[in-house]
Amino acid sequence: MCKLFMKDIIVGIDLGTTNSAVAVVENGQPRILAKGKDKLIPSVVGYSAQSGWLVGHPALNQYTLDPENTIRSIKRKIGTTEKIIAGGREFSPQEISAMILRELKQIAEDNLKQPVNKAVITVPAFFTNAQRQATKESGEIAGLEVVRIINEPTAAALAYGLDHESDDVTLVYDLGGGTFDVSIVDMSSGVVDVRASHGDTNLGGDDFDERLSEHFMKEFNDTHSFSLEGNRKALARLNRAAEATKVKLSNHPETVLREEYLAEKNNIPLHLETEVERIKFVDLIDDLLNRTIESIDKVLKDAELDIEDLDRVLLVGGSTRIPAVWSIVSDYTGIEPASEINPDEAVALGAAIQGAIISGEDVGSILVDVTPYSLGIATAVVIGGRLISDQYSMLIHRNTTVPVTKEETFYAISPDQESIEIKVYQGEEPIASDNTLLGRFTIGDLEAPTRGDVPSINVRFDFDANGMLHVRVTDRETGKTKEKSVQATQARLSPADIAKARTGLDRLRSDRPILVLSDETKALVRRSLKLLEDGSLEETDATNLRELLSDIDDAQTEGDQTELDELAEELLDVLFELE
Ligand code: AMP
Repeated sequence: MCKLFMKDIIVGIDLGTTNSAVAVVENGQPRILAKGKDKLIPSVVGYSAQSGWLVGHPALNQYTLDPENTIRSIKRKIGTTEKIIAGGREFSPQEISAMILRELKQIAEDNLKQPVNKAVITVPAFFTNAQRQATKESGEIAGLEVVRIINEPTAAALAYGLDHESDDVTLVYDLGGGTFDVSIVDMSSGVVDVRASHGDTNLGGDDFDERLSEHFMKEFNDTHSFSLEGNRKALARLNRAAEATKVKLSNHPETVLREEYLAEKNNIPLHLETEVERIKFVDLIDDLLNRTIESIDKVLKDAELDIEDLDRVLLVGGSTRIPAVWSIVSDYTGIEPASEINPDEAVALGAAIQGAIISGEDVGSILVDVTPYSLGIATAVVIGGRLISDQYSMLIHRNTTVPVTKEETFYAISPDQESIEIKVYQGEEPIASDNTLLGRFTIGDLEAPTRGDVPSINVRFDFDANGMLHVRVTDRETGKTKEKSVQATQARLSPADIAKARTGLDRLRSDRPILVLSDETKALVRRSLKLLEDGSLEETDATNLRELLSDIDDAQTEGDQTELDELAEELLDVLFELE
């Protein structure tokens, strides 16, 4: 008889305040273990008289119906002796956390088709010993041996490939649902760990939801002269709607909220229908975002570092998907934050990597599909009464995980403007025409909402996994749309490859004398750019021409005169054909 021994797997668990996830390393690659399509499960436990105990989405779904028997954010209570009452029973915070961990263990076993008994669990860097111990106990109650508790920022850094060969100083900005945590992670004496950390245990996506929810309550009150205060069910519904609205506003410049039958007045049902713009939302949370910047200052001070000492910035936590978060962090640090790995998956992936390291497995870097260049359109701005055109407005930042959809609103310059030309570019330069033109088209017959107002359009970019960029422009007044698909450059790189490639390129730029192009070659390049700008070339011709120009650029940067001369000859031939 032959007995088969299965390898003892150590999974990585991100036991979050709002959401939790479980991951594993297989063949050197970490991956999230999903339940159906869901990679994250809400950290919510609930009791329903019909179905008994519920965990994850079913529990979250019953929250609006039965908030009293639904437990959210148990992580805030872990390590305390507070008792939680639900379903007519009393629980310790460990027991509630254990229900979430048991669900994650089950998800892992269903995926891996084998028992899972060991885990690495992450906790915030600011957790006390009592909180760490309680987390460990929760694991044990759930039937998991907790082989290690690691800090969330350390896990994030591991997911991003902070290995023992690099000694980068990394700032991990972790903005989740209920907590904000900013840490400096680096390597000292061969160990990757947190050098300083600063947390705000009461700041996160929940607060953003609350601000929006208060805004909706006020709108409701203004419309119906009726207050929803004290109406727990209506408020729970508004809160969920606020979260959904917030998430939509991460990808769209505006959205409409519709909630029917929130309350009744004189037997008449009262609904709420209102439009929210992203700008309004950012305005509502502006002071909260500024608080996160103050924490960055504090953590730098604790680590005795200046902002210039930072090498990398990582964004972790679901709330960092808000575009304003990306902007405020990148403006303040002067570093483009890495966001290749889904911010709400990085911690679990890192925990899985730690698990694999403990069990002696080789771990490769994470492969992700990202946009290698930023994508945007040419716009104009009016500064001091002067019109400055050829400005580059990015819709999708480079290194964003694909597929991705982004939408922004743009305005015409004058009320009687009837058409807008859309020029789609790929690149990083602030002057639009310094980037690569991918395509152009015009939307006409625009209408302004009222006399004297300017027409406006929504520009939507859908970038798919094959590198196709689908651009859709909609006249906001008439709803008329115009679409175009263009092929952007593709890449499949690990974050570490991208970082390496970028530093390599920077070095190349600074080390080598850049060749000066001869006047003839410059004229050829100008003619080529004009042809590309005209948009009259067949797609394949345009691609070949762009490649040739890029080869010329490389030869120039690398200082290869022979190659440059050959390429200039080739360009002359190609132009002869095309013109
Ligand atoms: P985490 O604790 O890291 O899972 O983060 C959860 C928080 O991220 C919740 O408040 C979510 O509403 C928020 N979140 C998730 N996705 C997005 C998004 N696309 N835009 C804004 N907030 C988001």
